[in-house]
Amino acid sequence: MSRPPLSNAEEEPAFLKADEACDRCAAAMKAAILGRMRAAGASLHRPSLALAMAYASPSAIRLAFKPQEHAHAWATEMLSDERFAGKAGPKKLTEAQVVDEAVDVGIELGLDTLPAKIRKLVDVDAARALTRKRLFAGMFRQNVAAYEESLAGLERLASAARLPSMATLVDIERLASMFGLTSRQADAIVRATEALFNYGPKNTKARLDSIRRAMVKRIEQALEMRAEVLGRTLVSEAIATAQTALFEVAKRQGLFSDEEKIQVWVARGNACPICQGLDGKTAAVGEAFVSDYNGETYYQEPVHPNCKCKRRLVTVKTPKRTTRRRAA
Ligand SMILES: [Zn+2]
Repeated sequence: MSRPPLSNAEEEPAFLKADEACDRCAAAMKAAILGRMRAAGASLHRPSLALAMAYASPSAIRLAFKPQEHAHAWATEMLSDERFAGKAGPKKLTEAQVVDEAVDVGIELGLDTLPAKIRKLVDVDAARALTRKRLFAGMFRQNVAAYEESLAGLERLASAARLPSMATLVDIERLASMFGLTSRQADAIVRATEALFNYGPKNTKARLDSIRRAMVKRIEQALEMRAEVLGRTLVSEAIATAQTALFEVAKRQGLFSDEEKIQVWVARGNACPICQGLDGKTAAVGEAFVSDYNGETYYQEPVHPNCKCKRRLVTVKTPKRTTRRRAA
């Protein structure tokens, strides 16, 4: 089974296949995250929310919400072993199943980007185990950040709750339902509500109702967008982590050395300056790439949400490494 030459790295079939699977997983993850945000909002302590709004003391929101605990529970569920629960029929995927699927996609991508000889020998189970171990730490961190940011969004809204315009929009239940917005999104909601409120010469009940409806719709869209970004990031992280683990396991097994195989960064799509600065850069397996743009190091994609970058393994071209000498 010979492989086609990697002539156009950006459109490599293995990458395209992974993109497609990533989209599928990200959509399922987005749905799960929306549900999780809703549940987190519903679980917020109402008296604390009331306090935060009434006294414009946004930090009261934090009294009854412990991001670390929630994030730990979330990460644990995401990586729970329910893959073989085996319920037939159409079903909504759980987060754990989505993560499993993403790990499979990453393993597949890793196998596709390994030479055929190594592909047959690499210990896939070991790679899978290593992936799950690493994902837990990564997901825990990301989930803490997601909760922290959501709380910051709520704080922003609570501190604006005294604006006359926000009275059209915010009550305790609605505030709780806005859990999941980033502070930037929350800011945009406040500004847009004010703009609508200040636009009309007089704010009749009908007009206030229409402002409320318009803004509720906007909030829902913002929440969806946020869940989309979070979901995509989690899924692409899982895919990349699995590919990295597979490369590392193959190297540990002695199937190749740093002198024989090296990773190449492939920026794809509408790459941002950081990713462009990584394009074509090489790094030994297990080591970091350095972006020309900011001099920062990156072990793997995604560099940012919607990062389309990928890595592949290539044969090192210069066999003459013994003649290298460093000037003093
Ligand atoms: Zn990128």
